[in-house]
Parts: sequence; C-alpha cells; structure tokens
Amino acid sequence: MVSSAESRDLRSKLVNNLIRESILKRDYTKHALLNVERERYAEPATSLEECYSDVPLRIGSNQTISAPHMVAIFLDELELRQGVKVLEIGTGSGYHAAVTMTALDYLGGGELCSVEIDPDLLNNARRRLEMIQTEKVALRLYLRDGYYGLPEQAPFDRIYVTASITEKPHKLYEQLANKGVMLYPFGLPGVQELIKATKEDGRISESRLMLCSFVSLRRKIYWHDDSQTV
Ligand code: SAH
Repeated sequence: MVSSAESRDLRSKLVNNLIRESILKRDYTKHALLNVERERYAEPATSLEECYSDVPLRIGSNQTISAPHMVAIFLDELELRQGVKVLEIGTGSGYHAAVTMTALDYLGGGELCSVEIDPDLLNNARRRLEMIQTEKVALRLYLRDGYYGLPEQAPFDRIYVTASITEKPHKLYEQLANKGVMLYPFGLPGVQELIKATKEDGRISESRLMLCSFVSLRRKIYWHDDSQTV
C-alpha cells in the first residue's frame, strides 16, 4: 500500500530529528524507521501527529509501542548484520518486529522469531506483519511465555526484550550464540536500566547503556502446547 504524503513527511521529520540529536546512527536503522508506517500498528483513534511524535503509543491490554528513539537505540545497539537470527520477546503490536525485519531486509536478509504472551495482541500483529513483503527475511511468531526464550530455535545471534525484567535472564543468555548481542530493560517497574550483554566463549559481559521505562514482563504461567507459527 502506498503511504500518504503526510505520513511520509512526518516520518522523515521524526527520523531527521533522531539523527540530528545523535540518537539514530546506523543506515539500516534510518532505512527501517523511514519505511515502516507506525500508524498501522497504533490503535485506530491515534492521530498521525501522535504516531510520529517521539512518544510511546497505547496498543491495548495495557501495553505500549516504545517511543521511536528507543526503537532506534535498540536497533543501532543490536549491531545487526546480514544473515543474523534474531529473537524478540514481546511482539506487541508488531511495530518493533516490522522495523527489525525491514532493517534485516536492507542488510540482505536474516531471520526473526518473535514471542508474545497475549493471544489477541499476537493475532493482530500477525495480520500486520504478514503484509510486509520480503523474501529475504524469515518470520516466525510464537504464543508463549518469553521468559523461557525459544529453546527449539536457539542459538540466536541477537536477542532483545521489549518488557522489563527483574531477574538476570539466565535462560536467554543460554540461548545467545557465541559473539551474540542481547538488549533488555532491567529493574523494577517505573525506571530501569537498558542492559547490553555480549557473549564470547561462553562468558557474558554486561554494560549499562541508559535509563529507560518499559512495561513489565508478565510472569503469569500461561503455557500453550500449540505454539503457533506463521
Ligand atoms: N515490541 C512491541 C511492544 C512491546 S510492549 C511493539 O512494538 O508493539 C511489551 C510486550 O511484551 C507486550 O505485548 C506484552 O504482552 C509482551 N509480554 C509481556 N510479558 C511477556 C512474556 N512473559 N512473554 C512474551 N511476551 C510478553
């Protein structure tokens, strides 16, 4: 579908601001944010202006799409390369997944597995993400508790968590490939630290990138044997 001129203008203004503020640094991130229409992932009543303001957007079930600057930082800091296999925890609206897929497509291809605990959010995200046309990026969506990662698809070259966690993510660290990079918000509800972890010869090194504020990872036991994929 062709995007409206107004949407394109607002998107490019937002991206230019993020570049000017030295928040967005990599070409693949710029390409992805310029090409994914955020309004497709927002609730219908959200205005175009709000969609292209640097703020989180409500997506139902008390969840939000992260603000664009945070999505840009995640994408830049993940250090994406051609051919990487990525795990996202928290599909939500599908916006962040769409941005990651578009960046991977720009880089020449890759794989994205995304895990969501809420069936309604996942169904809506699936509808939206199926419209992304790329033959170079494989997408698999799973309905399950991402706390446990996705052992049957591990190892992953990149992992990112879009909800905050209060315990060190040992299960996800196990599923990170050698030389892999992982990002997650760590801390109590309210304000957390964005942690970047790398793995080298089985050893994890962590650095704190910045303060951030994410919704909390939901920890109700909600296990589905019939994990769905597309
Ligand atoms: N990345 C999303 C927004 C993330 S909001 C987007 O671009 O829209 C955090 C998401 O994590 C929500 O969709 C929430 O339902 C999901 N989530 C929370 N706990 C989870 C868990 N244990 N496993 C998988 N997903 C979870």
